[in-house]
Amino acid sequence: MTTSTRGPVRPDGTPIDKEAVRRKYLEERDKRLRADGNDQYLRLTGELAGYLTDPYTPRTERAPKTDHVTVAFIGGGFAGLVTGARLAEAGVPVRIVEKGGDFGGTWYWNRYPGAQCDTASLIYMPLLEETGHVPTEKYAHAPEILEHCQRIGKHYGLYDDALFHTEVTDLEWDAAAARWIVRTDRGDAFTAQFLAMGTGPLHVPKLPGIPGITTFGGHSFHTSRWDYAYTGGDASGAPLDRLADKRVALIGTGATAVQAVPHLAGACAELYVFQRTPSSVDVRGNGPIDPEWFASIATPGWQRRWLENFTATQTGAGDGEDLVMDGWTDLARRMRERVLSLPPEEQTLAGMQAAMEDADVEKMEEIRARVDAVVADPETAEGLKAWYRQLCKRPCFHDEYLDAYNRPGTHLVHTDGKGVERITEDGVVANGREYEVDCIIYASGFEVGTDYTQRAGYDVTGRDGARLSERWADGMRTLHGTHVHGFPNLFVVQPTQGANLISNVPHNLTESGRTIAAIVRHALDTGAREVEVTAEAEQAWVELLLTHPGRGVIGSPDCTPGYYNNEGRDAGLRAKLNVGYPAGAAAYFTYLEGWRSSGDFEGLMFR
Ligand code: NDP
Repeated sequence: MTTSTRGPVRPDGTPIDKEAVRRKYLEERDKRLRADGNDQYLRLTGELAGYLTDPYTPRTERAPKTDHVTVAFIGGGFAGLVTGARLAEAGVPVRIVEKGGDFGGTWYWNRYPGAQCDTASLIYMPLLEETGHVPTEKYAHAPEILEHCQRIGKHYGLYDDALFHTEVTDLEWDAAAARWIVRTDRGDAFTAQFLAMGTGPLHVPKLPGIPGITTFGGHSFHTSRWDYAYTGGDASGAPLDRLADKRVALIGTGATAVQAVPHLAGACAELYVFQRTPSSVDVRGNGPIDPEWFASIATPGWQRRWLENFTATQTGAGDGEDLVMDGWTDLARRMRERVLSLPPEEQTLAGMQAAMEDADVEKMEEIRARVDAVVADPETAEGLKAWYRQLCKRPCFHDEYLDAYNRPGTHLVHTDGKGVERITEDGVVANGREYEVDCIIYASGFEVGTDYTQRAGYDVTGRDGARLSERWADGMRTLHGTHVHGFPNLFVVQPTQGANLISNVPHNLTESGRTIAAIVRHALDTGAREVEVTAEAEQAWVELLLTHPGRGVIGSPDCTPGYYNNEGRDAGLRAKLNVGYPAGAAAYFTYLEGWRSSGDFEGLMFR
């Protein structure tokens, strides 16, 4: 393998043995590989369905809807809100159907203590300029983001026709009437000329398939349905005062656990954090947003400029100016500097890859050194070190997480890749020892690699009875990730096969929202009853996607398993199609803007 001339070094200039780091990464990955991949997790059905109960909003009865609407949108998270907003601006009414009790999507459900956005508020929170909201912190906490979702809903009148606590059960194209029939678990059977789906990539909580999980006699819940009645405290950060005499197990150490642990650590009598793979926890650097500073940057069009700057910087397409300056852009900036400093003879693909790897090794060594600097117990510190490239798993950022392990009642149970062995009536078994606890909190994440229709909870029947589940059995096939041949007047709002920008998902959604509003407006203005991508345009887009050089570190089989790489199992064609525009996210947004504003909507048929 190629190594750039300089090789990775520590901040004090001492060299890092890159080969040894590579070997360690592969050893750690191998410990975690398992044959069952995504099948290791449990779906929350049958006797586990209780884990899905909404603890936040009581369900109210209403009469079923049997009317007709212009646009129905499935999902009331950011996707539905930003699309609804753009449709409202275009004078098109929309009915949002949402399984939660209010708008917010992930921010409706995830109210665990410490929840906050990991991407800077100024670019993460959509429609700031339009609604006039100034975020209070560089990384806003969850209650502020949920409130912002409600603000968007009110600002654009999206509450007027919204259906909450309503789950779609079936979507069917009625060719004769050129409209969709939407059926739900509330007995609704209404029709919509246009239909859009933004059901989110991470909204179906999952449990680890640990033997004995249903035998536990104490209390338990999933982090996305936080039980404040049991823990005390609230989502705004009030102390979890009912845990003072409780022994609590937290299973999982992903982005959710990293934010929740500091709150639990101070509150429980004993906290046991069961870890299979450590997260990489970089510096957070949160702080209030100074209104005076904000006024100085907030000239018209500021949010779009910031969005574009972040996307370009984070994906390596920037010009060196970094407005957001955070952990996401830091790695990209380092890689860029490394590549630019290569001598001419090393400016080859292999030379550039080696330079980027060097920057990554340096970054991860710093993240590991931070663990040693903060965590007093050397064994605990060793267990908390992440041995993989930074984008192998979702990077985390926190300034109190590591320190929480210095508290006497907080214990890391590092299972060295093996995970929890068993759950008994009294507690959790790991590394051959039973830990008796009163409560188990599952920070075990959400379904990701499963079929779109499984996650959505319904199938979609298009023209001539075609099923979306069958059409996508070997992977997604779309134009722009949005349009599917055979499914007229349907728009899918999600990042894959578009920009596929994972560091700031709302940027994908706001651009989709603009596009869908423009298409629907055009159809209504021209009297078109149907809009559909041609088979040729869809095929051409799929062929373009197949020229993608690969997602680099993200999704690589060299990475320790997780949802970024399908739990380490080769997903074949599906993985090849699970990509974005080959030229990158920034180029995609430029392309889409031109496609949309030309008014031709090349590849779509209006009839
Ligand atoms: P994750 O899927 O990231 O984490 C699940 C955790 O459960 C992992 O640590 C996993 O270990 C562990 N686990 C699974 N099975 C077992 C087992 N048998 N024994 C022990 N541990 C087990 O879920 P999260 O809810 O933390 O995060 C999901 C995603 O949601 C994030 O990646 C991020 O995209 C998003 N998120 C965003 C936030 C933000 O922006 N502020 C905050 C929180 C989440 P292993 O790693 O070994 O699989």
